[in-house]
Amino acid sequence: MSFGFKSDSTKEKPEYIPKKTFIECTECEQVFISREYNKSNAEAFCKCENLHLGIRIIQNSRFENFVTVRWNISPPKIYEEK
Ligand SMILES: [Zn+2]
Repeated sequence: MSFGFKSDSTKEKPEYIPKKTFIECTECEQVFISREYNKSNAEAFCKCENLHLGIRIIQNSRFENFVTVRWNISPPKIYEEK
């Protein structure tokens, strides 16, 4: 079984984000909420295109998917709902 991880990119790091987590771009200050991303809304860029949100589908798990975030310039601020 292959998960198809890419290893050809040096600057982008996927990161697993739990649901109900805020992801803020430190460049343009746009905030994303991880739970808004799922199979039907699977991809987003922030205004300055620093951040790229996506999802990774998980099989054989009670979780349907994880949200992943990649970045080009600077990593996002990630914080839980208060
Ligand atoms: Zn941005």
